Amino acid sequence: METEKIAYFERPQNLKHKEFIESQSNCALCGNILQLTHSIDRGLNIVQEVALCPSCEIKTRTKEFQLN
Ligand SMILES: [Zn+2]
Repeated sequence: METEKIAYFERPQNLKHKEFIESQSNCALCGNILQLTHSIDRGLNIVQEVALCPSCEIKTRTKEFQLN
């Protein structure tokens, strides 16, 4: 496992996806902007997204994306 800034969201064809993600990027508890981190498992070709609130220090969600 490794963590890095993922290029997936930089692609123009994923702008709608990016906007959706950003619209969901505030902590439900305190309203702070969440820090998104992505753990890439190259063995399984899966990216796991974790949203961490720096104020509450809670992980608010995880998502998994299948890589091509
Ligand atoms: Zn919070």
